[in-house]
Amino acid sequence: MTGKRGLVFGMANKNSIAFGVVQAMLAEGIEVMCVTAPGLQGMAEKALDGSGVMHPVLTCDVAGSSDGIITLAAKVKEIWPDGFDYLVHAIAFSDKTELEGSILSTTRENFLKTMDISAYSLVPMCCYLCPQMREGGAVAAFTFAGSRFRSPNYNVMGVAKAGLEALVRYLAPAVADMGLRINAISAGPVRTLSSRGVSDFALSLKMGETRSVTGKNVSAEEVGVATLKIMQAPGITGYTIDVDNGIALAGMGSSEREMEIYRAHVATSA
Ligand code: NAD
Repeated sequence: MTGKRGLVFGMANKNSIAFGVVQAMLAEGIEVMCVTAPGLQGMAEKALDGSGVMHPVLTCDVAGSSDGIITLAAKVKEIWPDGFDYLVHAIAFSDKTELEGSILSTTRENFLKTMDISAYSLVPMCCYLCPQMREGGAVAAFTFAGSRFRSPNYNVMGVAKAGLEALVRYLAPAVADMGLRINAISAGPVRTLSSRGVSDFALSLKMGETRSVTGKNVSAEEVGVATLKIMQAPGITGYTIDVDNGIALAGMGSSEREMEIYRAHVATSA
């Protein structure tokens, strides 16, 4: 054991990006406590069975009010009275019906819900949990390049992720006052429970492979390792860092693989 401790929100199952972070932490001997949304506890515990993560998986609904986070913070204080080092926000939610088609169909209700759960929740999390963190610790939250670029079907979630990234910039000095750093990790597409809710997600995975520098999408494990390294690295705070095998570098026809697709298309339509 390193004596370090990590609190990870957003664990649903073995495909979760949170699970990638958990695995990276456990590999380094970091003590890990997981939190999930009510209703997902059984699934999360089954996935973590035998991993060495502290039992039980805690639940917390971050939607609608800060009460869930305040109650959770009190529980964490009881379990780890002398504090912890890493805080991970791997949470997002939006109605599936609005992660397809035109953004003009976005309802006010789902816009506010998506923003609340996927972006705003980082504020009470930092407010009530960062004071329990030990000097030199770090916070990480997950975003997607659909915040900076228009990404088909991502719609309201792209807007929420832009908000989350801006929040990370504004939260950086607030957590620095507590001796902590915070960054957003912009992960490439990974097949998870949430991402499957975005229409045509299978196409995004294919596009990711084609557009990446390496010809491969990142795995949740790779994202987890990179996230932990970034949380451990001094001097980085307030940034959004791409962990996507270079997908976000892509311009038009940016890789030989993509050019091949268009060459074949032009050849058959000529
Ligand atoms: P996932 O479904 O495994 O995890 C999402 C988690 O959000 C769930 O485990 C759940 O516990 C949590 N959650 C949802 N509503 C909640 C609520 N009201 N209260 C508390 N928790 C709630 O999916 P994932 O893809 O691993 O998502 C983790 C993070 O990574 C999200 O922020 C997501 O946007 C981000 N991300 C995912 C991808 C991808 O392609 N999978 C790419 C970039 C960023």
